[in-house]
Amino acid sequence: MTSHWTRRTVLGLIAAAPALSLPRIARARGGRVVIIGGGFGGSATARMIKRLAPAIEVTLIARDTSFVCCPGSNTVISGFGRIEDQTVGYGALAKDGIIVVTGRAVTVDTAQRQVHLADGSVLPYDKLVLSPGIGFFWDEVEGVSAATADRIPHAWQAGEQTMLLRRQLEAMPDGGLFVLCAPVGPLRCPPAVGERVSLVAHYFKTAKPKSKIIVLDAKSKFSLQPLFEEAWAALYPGMIEYRLAEDDGIVRAIDPETRAVATDFADEQADVVNFIPRQRAGDIALAAGAADETGWCPVDPATFASTLVPHVHVIGDAAFAPPLPKAAAAAVSVAETCAQAIVHDLTQAEMTEPRWHAGCYSLAAPQHGFEASTDFHLTDGHVVANEATMRRTPEGAPAEDLQAGAEKAELWLRGIMSQVWG
Ligand SMILES: Cc1cc2nc3c(=O)[nH]c(=O)nc-3n(C[C@H](O)[C@H](O)[C@H](O)COP(=O)(O)OP(=O)(O)OC[C@H]3O[C@@H](n4cnc5c(N)ncnc54)[C@H](O)[C@@H]3O)c2cc1C
Repeated sequence: MTSHWTRRTVLGLIAAAPALSLPRIARARGGRVVIIGGGFGGSATARMIKRLAPAIEVTLIARDTSFVCCPGSNTVISGFGRIEDQTVGYGALAKDGIIVVTGRAVTVDTAQRQVHLADGSVLPYDKLVLSPGIGFFWDEVEGVSAATADRIPHAWQAGEQTMLLRRQLEAMPDGGLFVLCAPVGPLRCPPAVGERVSLVAHYFKTAKPKSKIIVLDAKSKFSLQPLFEEAWAALYPGMIEYRLAEDDGIVRAIDPETRAVATDFADEQADVVNFIPRQRAGDIALAAGAADETGWCPVDPATFASTLVPHVHVIGDAAFAPPLPKAAAAAVSVAETCAQAIVHDLTQAEMTEPRWHAGCYSLAAPQHGFEASTDFHLTDGHVVANEATMRRTPEGAPAEDLQAGAEKAELWLRGIMSQVWG
């Protein structure tokens, strides 16, 4: 990992962050808010509500006692990042007065306003926030299912999946073939596909230089394509073959035992397969009735209230609020709007005009990073990207700018982790 950030610059970045710095503190009346999901969106919302209105009882249901962040996890797969540096706990949230319950929510009784957990406990709520992240459409490709993820990892939720893919790459022979299968959107963090390909290529270049990468992408183009293609030509010439949908990039079958991958016209014998399934909102959002036929949750972007279920808000990747990206940066930004709306409903505190920021950084190598950031606002009930605020690394950027981009990526990650869990 790059180590060019300092405590001072991180603190500066946190101070500059828009979230968790709201104008008016409401202390008058309480209420009970339950939040499902202790990732970026859920944890940020919990802290924000508690800071805005300490009298509100906030309960966060987190699947485990710690959480492993996806941003930065490609560096672990590449071998220059550490999973420990991706992992956070909930101690600071508990200190804020948030009740952190470790467990899995299995159903939501939206009529009685109760969440049922796998251990049989029941949590009543006045307002419920769903931030469960993503689930997968399994069984769309022959041979792959949730049960085969222990051999064919997706690593699109960080933790054990990240380490499984890393171990498989370490065990792969020099001269082996890595096949990455990317789905159609909407998907969590589209630029992370190009980043994953890049950082696996970086590992091969340094440890297994005869190895090859084939990407089978069900889409017709991919996020930050010109920037990644330029980087690959310079950094990893001849190593990466990227097939889009019209170049036979759609995967039809994978044998999880032999790792044979079939498309319409080709069969590839891979050593490691990274199959990323098509995505939807996490299971509990579907169980709560908050998802529509697309698998995502429609919301009113002024409040991130579900348009399908009363007294329920949905944020983070599970919410469908284009053009906001499915990114940690957006989830944390949206947490402010969601928290204000809930505090407003429960205590009549004022709301501010919603504005969001999604700062996105991607690595093509440890010292080669890009930025693609945008601000968003609400116009006539729709989320609109503010073109004037778009910041995107141009093609042909000098090496020092790419180095600065990589340093910013690390700074951003440490800043947002500290902001949400520190
Ligand atoms: C490889 C990769 C790299 C990425 N890089 C970036 C990046 O650089 N910048 C960026 O902005 N974004 C990045 N992202 C995207 C980012 O990880 C997500 O957008 C972000 O995590 C979304 O937050 P969330 O709260 O919706 O979901 P999550 O952060 O995934 O949190 C959801 C939590 O809810 C839990 N949960 C689910 N169901 C239940 C239940 N029933 N009961 C209890 N708990 C439950 C889950 O276990 C999880 O802990 C990346 C993603 C990937 C895959």
